[in-house]
Amino acid sequence: MKLAKNLERLGTESAFKILADAKKLESEGRKIIHLSLGQPDFKSPDHVVKATKKALDDGHHGYVLPNGIIECREAVTRKIKKLYNSDIDPERVIIMPGGKPTMYYAITLFGEPGAEIIYPDPGFPIYESMINYTGAKAVPINMLESNDFSINPEKILSLINNNTRLLILNNPNNPTGAFTDKNKIDQLAEGLKKFPHVAILSDEIYSRQIFDEKKMPTFFNYPELYDRLIVLDGWSKAYSMTGWRLGWSVWPESLIEHVIKFCVNNHSCVNAAIQYGAIAALDGPDDTINLMMEKFTKRRKLIYEGLNDIKGIECVMPGGGFYAFPKVIGTGMNGKEFAKKCLHDAGVAIVPGTAFGKKATDYVRFSFAASQDNISKALENIKKIIE
Ligand code: PLP
Repeated sequence: MKLAKNLERLGTESAFKILADAKKLESEGRKIIHLSLGQPDFKSPDHVVKATKKALDDGHHGYVLPNGIIECREAVTRKIKKLYNSDIDPERVIIMPGGKPTMYYAITLFGEPGAEIIYPDPGFPIYESMINYTGAKAVPINMLESNDFSINPEKILSLINNNTRLLILNNPNNPTGAFTDKNKIDQLAEGLKKFPHVAILSDEIYSRQIFDEKKMPTFFNYPELYDRLIVLDGWSKAYSMTGWRLGWSVWPESLIEHVIKFCVNNHSCVNAAIQYGAIAALDGPDDTINLMMEKFTKRRKLIYEGLNDIKGIECVMPGGGFYAFPKVIGTGMNGKEFAKKCLHDAGVAIVPGTAFGKKATDYVRFSFAASQDNISKALENIKKIIE
């Protein structure tokens, strides 16, 4: 078999590999605390499950529109209006099988040899993987700890040139847990007006997981950018629905026909019944989100204080999402060595920083989507093996 050359440039998401390693150890009888995967440890809301079951009972078993049923797209626009007071035409909304397909399609729409795409580094690994796959030049934004890993508008604008086609942003950020406030996003949006040839992909999948009562600085705040703005969001993180494979994105009108073609070529449409559950999630009460945030707030404090209490580890306070991204080089190990030791000697699965960018050698990512008991036990085990 002769495989396509560009396959050599396709990366992956190593959190899944770590999960497999941890599961293997568990099958051998080891007890492992899982702090590696980015998924809330809560059940999906009961009213969502109920609405989906009803849709199945009602006979929603067939193909539906590739961009999603209109009721679901309208529910997305209602939620955008309620959260951000922005008016979005449901024809610009596409229901996707998860958040990932939006990045896949957006990057494929713009990426080719000669094109440049700017992305956060460290950042969600699929951005760089997909940019490389298309043959475009991947231009990293170095997210620095000295800047609390937050977005620096001037630095980003300085990376733009005539070949830049797409700028990818992720706020709150995976893996760093950084939150960039509206002031800086305003500055960036203002600066982007000077570069009308650059499309923006704003990955806002953690928009409902922000601490300290802060508001989501969404790109929906800038209608002047709508003709080149793609916003990615979805149900996975907000409603603890990662396994449902459900996401939504809003696209510029001019791209809709291309994206629908991708949907038709690739997945035809999103599972019909699940889209009714999706509507129930958006229109229903936000109790599960509030409960989740109450728990995440306690866990954030626990992990932040616990990590900083271990000799050689320094951790910035996460501002959003459910990740802590400490520097561990002070323990005498780099992130990869540290994560390996944690898994094998402390029974704690975490992800080395290099899974999110080559330069993040000194860091590891902890997901605090786990019970307080498990987080405390994990910190205790790690402290024991390090000190
Ligand atoms: N964007 C970011 C920044 C993420 O961290 C993730 C998942 O971890 C996604 C998108 C993808 O979400 P989904 O599981 O809905 O595909």
